[in-house]
Amino acid sequence: MMIKKKTRGQLIVLSGPSGVGKSTVISELLGQRQDIHFSVSFTTRQPRVGEADGVNYHFVDRAEFERMISAGELLEYAEYVGNYYGTSLKVIQEKVAAGTDVLLDIEVQGAAKVRAKCPEAVLIFIIPPSFEELSRRLRGRNTDSEETIAGRLRKAREEYRQIPSYDYLVVNDKVSAAAAEIIAILLAEDCRTRNRLHLVDDI
Ligand code: 5GP
Repeated sequence: MMIKKKTRGQLIVLSGPSGVGKSTVISELLGQRQDIHFSVSFTTRQPRVGEADGVNYHFVDRAEFERMISAGELLEYAEYVGNYYGTSLKVIQEKVAAGTDVLLDIEVQGAAKVRAKCPEAVLIFIIPPSFEELSRRLRGRNTDSEETIAGRLRKAREEYRQIPSYDYLVVNDKVSAAAAEIIAILLAEDCRTRNRLHLVDDI
């Protein structure tokens, strides 16, 4: 028997505080679910060492980003710690229409905008086992000043207030376990009746 491919892809939004290990969890997830398309965002922030244009982000200047806002080219955007970040509307529309699931790594303001525009999106928030652990992980990177770390922890506290509006909460204690939970969430979402009506024969 041939299982019919789903007619529309799922929008999957992943948020979580800086230092929670989101990128590592995403790499693990995408390694196991190669059918998921990762949405490469546009940003005005400078590339970090090791980041490549078109891979981690599309790096653009403020004038270009503001042009994209005016032209309605972004599904959502937000200003985060002095820089713009946004998601291309065209790429998302094309992928979802082709039945491909799309993963968005975005912060809480952007997630709220996606929820308002696409109520069926699945919103997942990732937290560390404790705030103490988050602080330890941020210090362990050895790349930021105490002031930057304190700023990130303040921001994390603000972001935590939005947790109740997410559908799922994943604790990143162990990367493989966190990725496994997300895979289970996505499987359950695929089994929702509204996502499976294409499998029901006409009677
Ligand atoms: P970073 O500068 O550390 O790569 O990202 C900072 C924050 O921006 C992260 O929380 C990340 O999830 C978020 N972010 C990345 N891309 C987008 C986007 O397209 N839209 C929004 N709203 N946030 C984004």
